[in-house]
Amino acid sequence: MTDLQLNLTEIQENIASAAKKSGRKANDITLVGVSKTVSLELIQNAFDLGVQHFGENRVQEFLLKYNQFEKPNWHMIGHLQTNKVKFIVEKVKLIHSVDSLRLAQEIDKRAAMHNIKIDILIEINIADEDTKHGIKPQDALFLLEQMQQFPNIRAKGLMCIAPYVETPEQNRKYFEKMNRLFIDIKTKPLHNTDMRFLSMGMTGDYQVAIEEGANIVRIGTGLFEGKQKH
Ligand SMILES: *Cc1c(COP(=O)(O)O)cnc(C)c1O
Repeated sequence: MTDLQLNLTEIQENIASAAKKSGRKANDITLVGVSKTVSLELIQNAFDLGVQHFGENRVQEFLLKYNQFEKPNWHMIGHLQTNKVKFIVEKVKLIHSVDSLRLAQEIDKRAAMHNIKIDILIEINIADEDTKHGIKPQDALFLLEQMQQFPNIRAKGLMCIAPYVETPEQNRKYFEKMNRLFIDIKTKPLHNTDMRFLSMGMTGDYQVAIEEGANIVRIGTGLFEGKQKH
């Protein structure tokens, strides 16, 4: 078996057991393979092994790959500049990183031009880190209220990038907090909002994230890097 096959099998097993711990099934969790800096060939191999979703964080790199490989569901997971929205809006399945009304407005405008609706997540800076994008948890509801005026956007959930930590348990409190916010917003009657996806957990902490309610995990190095490098 290749490193990729070994990695994927291990990840799928871990996803299944974490899902079970939180009363769900492996199928309830979507794996997004984070393919930034990864070659197209490796991405195609992963796709052939059953990975249907890939995430990129830079527009230019995404476009290069998309132009050669349209088949998968592509996710924009990185910070998105307003002036780049026009290049990607009809090409991505989900934008994970909406963190301002201005960005939402631009996505709505470009989606309207293509006569489509775009699914987005609100990025939350859950640990209030200066170095991270995303809005404060307490501002999420207000942003979603404001976004109701945008008919071509559907807010489908929340996303966070948890702090870099030594052990995944250190992030459990942030994942819990995200899940509470997610559940709280779900109860609010908002137009164009349908809280379904909680995108949190990366290579170092995805099992804990799933235990705390994540249903999208974004895994890069754990999937694509060779075993010998760990
Ligand atoms: C790079 C990246 C990931 C994946 O990180 P790994 O630790 O390699 O799994 C997930 N989400 C975002 C937003 C990223 O930029």
